[in-house]
Amino acid sequence: MTVYLVGAGPGDPGLLTLRGAEVLRRAEVVVYDRLSVAALVDMAPATAQRISVGKTPRGPSTPQDEINALLVEHGRAGREVVRLKGGDPFVFARGGEEAAALAAAGVTHEIVPGVTSAVAAPAYAGVPLTHRGLSTSFTVVTGHEDPWAATETDWEAVARVGGTTVVLMGVATRADIARRLMQAGRPADTPVVAVQWGTTPRQRTMRTTLAGLGAAPLSAPATIVIGAVAGLDLAWFERRPLFGRRVVVTRAREQASELRARLEELGAEVVEVPTIAIRPAEVDLAGYVQGADWVVLTSANAVAQLCSQLRDARSLGTAKVAAVGPGTAEALRVFGVRADLVPERTVAEGLVDVFPHGPGRVFLPQAAGARPVVAEGLAAKGWTVDAVTAYSAVGVAVSEAQRAAARGADAIAFTASSTVTNYLGSADPADVPGVVVCIGPVTAETAGRLGLEVTAVAEPHTLEGLVAALQRALTP
Ligand code: SAH
Repeated sequence: MTVYLVGAGPGDPGLLTLRGAEVLRRAEVVVYDRLSVAALVDMAPATAQRISVGKTPRGPSTPQDEINALLVEHGRAGREVVRLKGGDPFVFARGGEEAAALAAAGVTHEIVPGVTSAVAAPAYAGVPLTHRGLSTSFTVVTGHEDPWAATETDWEAVARVGGTTVVLMGVATRADIARRLMQAGRPADTPVVAVQWGTTPRQRTMRTTLAGLGAAPLSAPATIVIGAVAGLDLAWFERRPLFGRRVVVTRAREQASELRARLEELGAEVVEVPTIAIRPAEVDLAGYVQGADWVVLTSANAVAQLCSQLRDARSLGTAKVAAVGPGTAEALRVFGVRADLVPERTVAEGLVDVFPHGPGRVFLPQAAGARPVVAEGLAAKGWTVDAVTAYSAVGVAVSEAQRAAARGADAIAFTASSTVTNYLGSADPADVPGVVVCIGPVTAETAGRLGLEVTAVAEPHTLEGLVAALQRALTP
């Protein structure tokens, strides 16, 4: 029974510490603010109780003593409790008050530091807080008009220290802060950088001077950096090729993570709208392997279904294995099997073309409703084909919230015909972004038939090809 006060970092889920991830993954209760990073709350076990304490700037919020009482209550009940807090729990986050309440109640607590926005937001804007020749110190100060903080802060002293001044919670009071710093002697032309929504896909960096800060358009949350270092511009985050671009990914949830990661790597914001879910068929796939000369796999899903029924790679025995493309071959490789045959042209027809002639038995576990190309093509080459439905891709309705998130996106990626059909089945044309990219010709044909104008088809028909096509379509 421990209550962990965990720093969630400023927004980018990748900035959570390893320790934070460790305790989050086994949490029984997660207490989070409304602004918390959803991806981090999702890391907790599905069975964990999730409690939003609704802290929003200026919005309705749970009073601090109620939060303290909640933590004490769950801690006393012997649960593993994670209290997720933005940035670092001990930097302007009232983590000290929560820890004190726990200590007073005799509940064990642990502090897991986080990356504070005071450091991370400037880093993601490319502004070093200290820099040889420009600044030997940085001061982090709150701009909140809380009466205690406002009277306690000696702005003249802050000005006198010089170096870099980092202001959190200073959006509303920025004009006042700038005036006080200038009155205390900091030059009106001191460079200022304000980083809004730092480390998130919404990050925006605004550059001004102390004299311009008061009138500069700015909204919370923002980290304001004042000092000579703010004149440096080592921007990188906002310069990534797909930064600021929103891409809708329609793959099944279990399959979306790799595409998501690749797109995020390039700076895109990914909106996951799973249009299909994979439902295994109740069939003895392992039984079919026995007696097969070849096992032919036409998707990574088929590999997953088959392998989930095999004891290990040896269960394939002497059967040769063909994969329709590199994604399928990679799924096999993870299972410890190297495909004997992968066609260069990664479509069903390409596989049939390069497949040897029979006789013999071919086992073809595939999706319900798969095109008959492989089964018929191999039969025509003299093989006895056991074409077996191993799974079906069942349509998942697109929710109103997902449609809203998709609306206004820049691009949509379709990775199978079924994703197109299902998406259009529950979305309307306004929910289809301007750029439509399909993984291959069959998917593109379906999209075209359903009235979509396809911007690009991936070449090769792989995730890499898809990402490259999206990048070309989205960069001027
Ligand atoms: N404990 C947090 C700070 C909480 S106070 C931390 O260590 O980061 C809230 C203030 O943090 C906001 O008013 C803003 O100044 C800053 N902040 C939080 N998230 C931010 C973000 N993504 N980008 C820029 N500033 C952020």
